[in-house]
Amino acid sequence: MSVSLKNYVRERFLPHIWCPGCGHGIVMNNMIRAIAELGLNKNDLVMVTGIGCSARISGYMDFHTLHTIHGRALAFATGVKLSRPELTLIVPMGDGDALAIGGNHFIHAARRNIDITAIIMNNSIYGMTGGQYSPLSGYGKKATTAPFGNIDESFDIAALAKAAGASFVARTTTYHVAALKKILKEAITHKGFSVVEVMSQCPTYFGRKNKIGGAVDMLNFYKDNTVPIGSPKKAENPGLIETGVFVNENRPEYCAEYDKTVQKAQKAR
Ligand code: SF4
Repeated sequence: MSVSLKNYVRERFLPHIWCPGCGHGIVMNNMIRAIAELGLNKNDLVMVTGIGCSARISGYMDFHTLHTIHGRALAFATGVKLSRPELTLIVPMGDGDALAIGGNHFIHAARRNIDITAIIMNNSIYGMTGGQYSPLSGYGKKATTAPFGNIDESFDIAALAKAAGASFVARTTTYHVAALKKILKEAITHKGFSVVEVMSQCPTYFGRKNKIGGAVDMLNFYKDNTVPIGSPKKAENPGLIETGVFVNENRPEYCAEYDKTVQKAQKAR
């Protein structure tokens, strides 16, 4: 590889703040490798994050980075992309950041099919603020704010993204590192709104509260409870979680459509 991976990292901010065994480092590692293998110039990359453990990733990346406010990363990223459409926008978010307070921005970024890569690091909990349940925790799961079990149902991020109009939708886990890097490369190069859900372990809160065990146990859980899309095992055991690329379509991209509108308006003068 011609470009050193360190080229993309702000080493002065290391060591990182994540707990031992946290999945977010695996996501960051594979994202850097994906970017390096794509040969992207870091001066053409913009990373926007909101708030949460996942959002800290923007501090460690030596791109143009914006560490913004909770749930609003996609709103900031939309502004950047519309003003500088030639730049590559990557938006890592947690499940709470992306789909609770940021849920509306998520739906509408997908609907517009704006050329942004949204990486949702789904650990099923609010880690940074102390282990409160998130919209992705799941019924019956324990959290700091649900010591007797959560009564809120969860939902399927990939199905939501697909229904809202995202033109690239995929799911993988921190166990499946080869697939993770490959999918991130596909998502970053896809022209349109790309959603990559990465199931990422939080041993400190979700694993401990739900007695799943440590990081290795959680990685084994991902290995044992996922199947590739279309696997016959899914019919036998509906509880298995499908991984892979659900949607990969070429559809009109928002900035390109906006440019066409500007040109029409100029011709009409
Ligand atoms: S609290 Fe959970 S998500 Fe946050 S750094 Fe620790 S392990 Fe990772």
